[in-house]
Amino acid sequence: MLERLGVAGGGCQICISLAAPDEAGLMNGLAAATGADLIEVRLDALAEPLACQDDFFRELQSQAPVPVGFTCRPVWEGGGFEGAEGGRRDLLERAAQSGAAFIDVEQDADWAEAFIADSSVPVILSHHWQFPLPADLEERARRMRAVGPAVAKLVAPAATPADAIPLLAAGAELAASGQPSAAFCIGAAGSASRVLAVARGAALIYAAQPIGESVAAGQWRPEVLREELRLQRWRSGFGLCGLAGDPIDHSRSPAIFNAAFEALEQPIGYLPISCSELEPALELAEAQGLKGLSVTMPFKEAAARYCAELDPIADSIGAVNTLVSESNGWRGYNTDAGAVVSALSEVTEISGRRVVILGAGGAARAAAFALAARGAALTLCNRTRARADDLAQRVGGKSISIEALTSDHYDVIINATPIGMRGREDDTRTPFPVDCLRGDEIVFDFVYRPRITPLLRDAAQMGCTVIEGLEMFVRQAAEQYKLWLGGDSPAPLDIMRLAAEKALQRG
Ligand code: NAP
Repeated sequence: MLERLGVAGGGCQICISLAAPDEAGLMNGLAAATGADLIEVRLDALAEPLACQDDFFRELQSQAPVPVGFTCRPVWEGGGFEGAEGGRRDLLERAAQSGAAFIDVEQDADWAEAFIADSSVPVILSHHWQFPLPADLEERARRMRAVGPAVAKLVAPAATPADAIPLLAAGAELAASGQPSAAFCIGAAGSASRVLAVARGAALIYAAQPIGESVAAGQWRPEVLREELRLQRWRSGFGLCGLAGDPIDHSRSPAIFNAAFEALEQPIGYLPISCSELEPALELAEAQGLKGLSVTMPFKEAAARYCAELDPIADSIGAVNTLVSESNGWRGYNTDAGAVVSALSEVTEISGRRVVILGAGGAARAAAFALAARGAALTLCNRTRARADDLAQRVGGKSISIEALTSDHYDVIINATPIGMRGREDDTRTPFPVDCLRGDEIVFDFVYRPRITPLLRDAAQMGCTVIEGLEMFVRQAAEQYKLWLGGDSPAPLDIMRLAAEKALQRG
């Protein structure tokens, strides 16, 4: 029976949850459902579920690109079916007899155990808590194991990523005992737990449908699971690294790290942890034994407070973009700093170069400390002048107003503001008056979406040497890779660059 679900040999099946009010809607969803191993049809979303007859089930299965299973979630379990239990059971029996790949029934249905005993198709036994922190979790997991369904499914909503910790532990325990499981949290804060569960032995992950709203919040799109997380290679016991930030939907880090881990055959996965506060993400990472985390906006400064130790460069910058798990807690690093030096060193000596940095935020600070340490003559220019003054004083540079930007000549111009970033009101602007360039300057834009910003386009036309933000991005990631895997592990920079380029082409 387990072979029918594809969950017998380890590894995880991607199951798209499909919901529509009528057969035509389901057919449209099926036609667009790519990248899944299985499809779950939510009969309770239909306007008239009890009207479904054999030909309906057969038609769906014949049109589907992958095996189809069915569920009909009652209102008492958070679903949409309001009818009597007898009718619901008959409906699911008809679906099973039509050759469904699986049927999902709730543990609290008083006919669930008999249904499993009589069923000729695999049955997923599920429980969905309506509130976080299920009190009866262990007891439910124990009872599910005793029944022995094809998959034991435990789901609760999460208010923070850390809420998933007990569910993940229960799922891992079930999997270790030989009971295929899927235990995860729903809601935006639960999205990380869905993929984390896969590295803890989950047999199924539910993915978003291609048309309309997702059936449950926090579901991933199948193409993200396959192309960016490369989930097909994740196995129980995989090591994990991740990314904490808010928002992180746009991040290319999962694509480049998972490509790198795959290329070097490292049994490690990299997952995004979307969090409105850093602390619960760290709690989850610690409970799950993550090797390390990338930290992005808005937590780079806050991250330093959670470190048992700080690398001296991160300490002087006052911002951490990398956490490494050590026996005494987190050790914080700033790999943006080394990435700026590494990318710039490819085209010039740094010592003695006159460098102007536009901006005085986290990235500007990392660049300023790193370049000052290499002997660059620094000028800081920022919209809020006081921040430029402060940074200039700390790195031994000078600060100028925006109006004074063109009165001197610089060897290197660095944009460390978001001006020119796709999707912003000022995405067609340049942060530097390009017609003042002579053509012998090096122009380095930290913005990497788009790869060629208006500043880089115009500077290249003037004959300048340009450095894309992508170069900084992949180099800071390569440095993280080395920190997490240990000093001698080479980071596959070319593979990371290729993966970043591909991910940026996707949007
Ligand atoms: P941040 O800490 O928020 O700092 C933003 C800086 O830009 C501040 O100095 C801010 O000035 C200035 N700024 C913001 N909007 C502006 C505007 N409309 N006009 C003029 N100045 C403006 O951000 P960050 O982390 O330093 O990141 C800055 C940029 O670098 C972002 O685009 C980010 O994506 C990019 N970045 C790229 C990489 C990479 O790997 N390529 C790494 C890190 C960052 P005020 O002080 O006046 O607010």
